[in-house]
Amino acid sequence: MGATGKAAVFFGPGRPFQIQELPLPALEPGAVLIRVTLANVCGSDLHFWRGDAPLALPPDGWIFGHEMTGRVAALGPGVKTDSLGRPLREGDRAAFSYFYPCGRCYVCLRGHRAACPNKVGRPTGPSEFPHWVGAFAEYYYVRPGGVLFRVPDDLPDALVSPVNCALSQVIYGLTQVGLGLGDSVVIQGAGGLGIQATAVAREMGASPIVVVDQVAERLALARAFGADHTLSLAEVPDRKARVKLVRDWTGGRGADVACDFVGLPAAVPAGIEMLRYGGTYLEIGCISRGRTVELDPSALVWGSKRLVGVVMYDPWVIPRALEFLQRCRTRYPFERLVSHTFPLTEIDEAFRQAEWDSRAPASSRITRAALAP
Ligand SMILES: [Zn+2]
Ligand SMILES: [Zn+2]
Repeated sequence: MGATGKAAVFFGPGRPFQIQELPLPALEPGAVLIRVTLANVCGSDLHFWRGDAPLALPPDGWIFGHEMTGRVAALGPGVKTDSLGRPLREGDRAAFSYFYPCGRCYVCLRGHRAACPNKVGRPTGPSEFPHWVGAFAEYYYVRPGGVLFRVPDDLPDALVSPVNCALSQVIYGLTQVGLGLGDSVVIQGAGGLGIQATAVAREMGASPIVVVDQVAERLALARAFGADHTLSLAEVPDRKARVKLVRDWTGGRGADVACDFVGLPAAVPAGIEMLRYGGTYLEIGCISRGRTVELDPSALVWGSKRLVGVVMYDPWVIPRALEFLQRCRTRYPFERLVSHTFPLTEIDEAFRQAEWDSRAPASSRITRAALAP
């Protein structure tokens, strides 16, 4: 292993990434150094890159990105197994989380690790130990206390790289709202999360599954991943007409569950309106602080509707996500999810092509752009 590696350092919206050579860290007990093999541009990365919310960046920049997979490059003192107790060696492929519940706060002690307020620290710059804090780099440092699992040989990187964000996030979210056999579900947004959520909802027994988006290609992909109905914002621009269609498809009731995987606040009241009385809304997409929407709370009260926000997940989800992929990889075209791969040095171009917010809907054909450092 060389003493340095390359990282793409971010200095703020509208500025190009800088490729920098950084030292490899000395590993603390319990840490694992990963050689990143594939890192995806997630929707939340686009929020940072675009500048959707103010971001306090360190003066020496920030390495970000979190949806990734790789191989074990070095094991810290004392690490002999993965988080399920299976032997772990240098060179093993791994899926791992990118956030670190503290285990020492009220929320963690209540057993709700995914909601730990300390699970994501302030962004640290590349000059600060452990340097490798993001996916858009040749290495990633899994801190002591992080969870890491060996990856089965039969799953290619392109299927595994979305596991630690998109796939685990939707499995956890749909579990949190109690999606079950025969529940109707509306999935808003057919990007990385929405598409995975469609297949997961299908495997959880949900029916019917309605997917809403504005891009025809994405809706076609949603159908390949198990959607019963797709609803195009371009073809049905009237919100009331869209609600009526959802009612028609759900026996006149509205959906048991609706989920935001779009990340635009306007999607939230629209989705709540599609719920049946007593239905549950799952909010995952809107991560940018300060972006607001007008919401009439009486729609929740008179409709007895629940609103559930979720970010990140509990550790058990990653192995379950890997098993889900092994079980279902021939049932859905997962290989179509990472649609474009770029070398790390072309990260600016990868972001430009992945951007969908400001361009004509039909021109954004990328599902997930990936970097192969
Ligand atoms: Zn993500
Ligand atoms: Zn905690």
